[in-house]
Formats: sequence, structure tokens, C-alpha cells
Amino acid sequence: MTLQLQAGVSLKPYNSFGVDVRAQWFAEAHDDDDVREALAYVAEHRLPLLVIGGGSNLLLTADIQALVLRMATRGIRLLHDDGVNVVIEAEAGEPWHPFVLSTLAQGWSGLENLSLIPGTVGAAPMQNIGAYGVEIKDVFAGLTALDRETGELREFSLQECQFGYRDSLFKHAAGRWVILRVRFALSRAEHLHLGYGPVAQRLAEQGISQPTAGDVSRAICSIRNEKLPDPAVLGNAGSFFKNPLVPAAQAAELKQVHPGLVSYPQPDGQVKLAAGWLIEAAGWKGFREEDAGVHRLQSLVLVNYGTASGQQLLALARRIQADILQRFSVALEMEPNLY
Ligand code: FAD
Ligand code: NAP
Repeated sequence: MTLQLQAGVSLKPYNSFGVDVRAQWFAEAHDDDDVREALAYVAEHRLPLLVIGGGSNLLLTADIQALVLRMATRGIRLLHDDGVNVVIEAEAGEPWHPFVLSTLAQGWSGLENLSLIPGTVGAAPMQNIGAYGVEIKDVFAGLTALDRETGELREFSLQECQFGYRDSLFKHAAGRWVILRVRFALSRAEHLHLGYGPVAQRLAEQGISQPTAGDVSRAICSIRNEKLPDPAVLGNAGSFFKNPLVPAAQAAELKQVHPGLVSYPQPDGQVKLAAGWLIEAAGWKGFREEDAGVHRLQSLVLVNYGTASGQQLLALARRIQADILQRFSVALEMEPNLY
């Protein structure tokens, strides 16, 4: 047995909100055998299993009566290279942003818009991470997962993952699949996505008229560093609410009453509303009660000033949801995974 099990471990260092709850059992997986050992252990002891990566999309609301398995597997390999297009495979525990930088350093583009997202490669498919007009589904080439029900390895294609807006099959499968490694189709030919407002503007401000993928990555890092709190300094889990999709008629009605409403028509006829705008318009920006608050620059981000509990953060989120529903008749859905 190589898996090192520890009892009663504080999860404070393992979640970006910095919430201090304990795991009944805690272990790190460094290879597939460790994951299999963890599965065997929880089966034998009839324990739940919670697999985590960087803990940057979690809200932990109580002690976790389970084995918490942190994916710490490493490895990046080139599976295919035809001179232009490449397929790269990365182990689940690889930290996401350093992985993105390593692909850019090789001259492979595709992940530049997803720069500086915290967390791990293995968690990226969970909510089809997205930023600045790109989602991982746009460069996804498959993944390998371990089925907790059968103990078998299973390959997933793009279609099988059922990716949606911050959504996938895995988000709804209640921990059935442990994602072991993910494959990405990248390219030496750069097809840059600059259509998302601030990116093109930032490049222009820097005097860059013919950007490379590296330039786009650096521009996005600079924008993110200005707007988003660093979890190492101020606990948070990024955007706490998804941008709601509403029927076009409802968006039009809202716009009549609130001309400043930020909205984006979608190809399916629905309209995406900027949840951050709704929360700010309702007066929550910068709100603080004890150590739970709404970030002063980015109202989509709930923050922990130090000692907030998961319950306090959840209570604040519910108050905001109720207020937005009452004011705008719009239901906000939480994005982080609640445990
Ligand atoms: P965790 O928080 O550890 O886990 C998230 C979920 O995935 C949990 O349900 C967990 O059980 C499950 N999980 C984790 N690893 C595995 C695995 N190997 N197999 C099976 N299940 C697994 N998200 C975006 O989409 N776009 C952004 O731009 C973005 N920006 C952010 C900025 C900040 C400052 C922060 C704090 C967060 C941001 N996020 C963003 C959210 C978060 O970074 C991503 O969702 C990220 O992919 C979470 O990775 P993680 O390893 O930290 O996952
Ligand atoms: P922003 O640029 O202030 O824009 C506000 C919202 O408007 C965003 O949520 C975005 O939706 C939407 N938007 C802006 N330009 C758009 C366009 N051209 N087409 C369609 N929708 C557009 O957003 P931000 O908060 O600074 O975040 C920048 C990007 O990073 C966003 O893509 C955001 O999703 C991502 N991000 C995500 C998290 C997270 O935790 N999930 C945290 C930080 C940043 P989308 O969110 O759908 O893109």
C-alpha cells in the first residue's frame, strides 16, 4: 500500500476560499494505483469519496465525512504531431496554468484564453472551464476516467462529455468518475480568439497589432490580475454565480426597465445576462458581513476575509439569490461545487 492516509486533516490549505473544515480521511494520489487503492479503501470501509484538485471551485460547508483524495498526479506527453496539429495528454493533477504556459512555450496554441485559471487539468472538464470566449470543449480531444462503480477505465469522447456552459456530464454524475488524464488538440497554426471585449483592447493599448498566442495569454493574465482577487491573499472561488440564460422576451422587458443591463444574445435565441451587473445593480458590490463578503471590484466573486465559514458564505449567496430573484425575476445558479 503506497497511499498515505491521514485522519482529521484540515482542508483550509486545500480550498481557495480558505474555509477551515476537516476531512475524516485525507490522501494524495500520485498515480493510478493510488486512485485504485483509495477506491478499494472506501469500498471496504463503506466511506464516501471526495476527489479534489486545487480546491478552487469548492464551497465546503461542514466537516467532510469521507476520504478526500487530492489528485497530485503529474505528467504531460505528446501523443500526436503532424507538423501543424498536436494532441497533448496531461495527468489530472497537473496545475492548469503552468500546463497552459508549457503548451505555449512549445508553440502550440489553443489554451491561451484559458490562462491563469486556478486548479488542475483533471477538474477542467468538470465545468468545461471557460474564459474570454473559449471553453475547453473547443480544444478537447478526449479523457480517461476510472469508473467508481465498475473499477474499469473508460475513454470519453467530446460528445460523451456533454459539455455545456460551465457544465458537463461529470458535474451531474455525483462523483462516479475519477478523471485521470485529459487530451487536448492544439495547433502550431494560431487561430486566435480576440473577439471578447477587453482582450483586443488590451493588446491595442500595448501597441501589439499582430499578436501571438503568447501575447494573448499575457494580455489576459494582466487583465485578470487587475480584476480578480488572488486566492492566496483573499479567499474566493472565482465567479460564484453562473451568468443566467433567459428568454429573449424577458431580457427585452428587463432592458426597458434597466437600460444599462449587460446582455449577450445566444445562438439558441436565449439571452445571457451578466450576473455581475445584476448583483452590482442590487447594491451588493463591496458588501461585507463579518468575514463573508462580495468583492469590491468584481461583484460575481464572494470572498472570505479570513474566518468566514462555508455556512456563512452559503447564507450570503442565498441572500443574494433571493434578492436578485425578487428584483429581476432572475434565478442565479451557484457555480462552485457545494459539500
Ligand atoms: P476543485 O475545486 O478541486 O474541484 C472542483 C470539482 O471537480 C469538485 O466537484 C471535485 O470533486 C471535482 N474534481 C476535481 N478533480 C477531479 C478529478 N480528477 N476527477 C473527478 N472529479 C474531480 N473557472 C472557469 O471556468 N473560468 C475561469 O475563468 C475561472 N476563473 C477563476 C478565477 C479564480 C480566482 C478562482 C478562484 C476560480 C476560477 N475558476 C474559473 C473556477 C476554478 O478555477 C475552475 O473551475 C477549476 O477548473 C477548478 O479546478 P480545481 O482543480 O481547483 O477543482
Ligand atoms: P467581464 O469581461 O467583466 O464580462 C462580464 C460578463 O459578460 C462575463 O461573465 C462574460 O460572460 C460576458 N461577456 C463579456 N464579453 C462577452 C462577449 N463578447 N460575448 C459574450 N459574453 C461576454 O468578465 P470577467 O468577470 O472579467 O471575466 C472574464 C472572463 O473570465 C469571462 O469569460 C469569465 O467567465 C471568466 N472568469 C470566470 C471565472 C469563474 O470562476 N468561472 C472567474 C473569473 C473570470 P462569460 O462568463 O460567459 O464569458
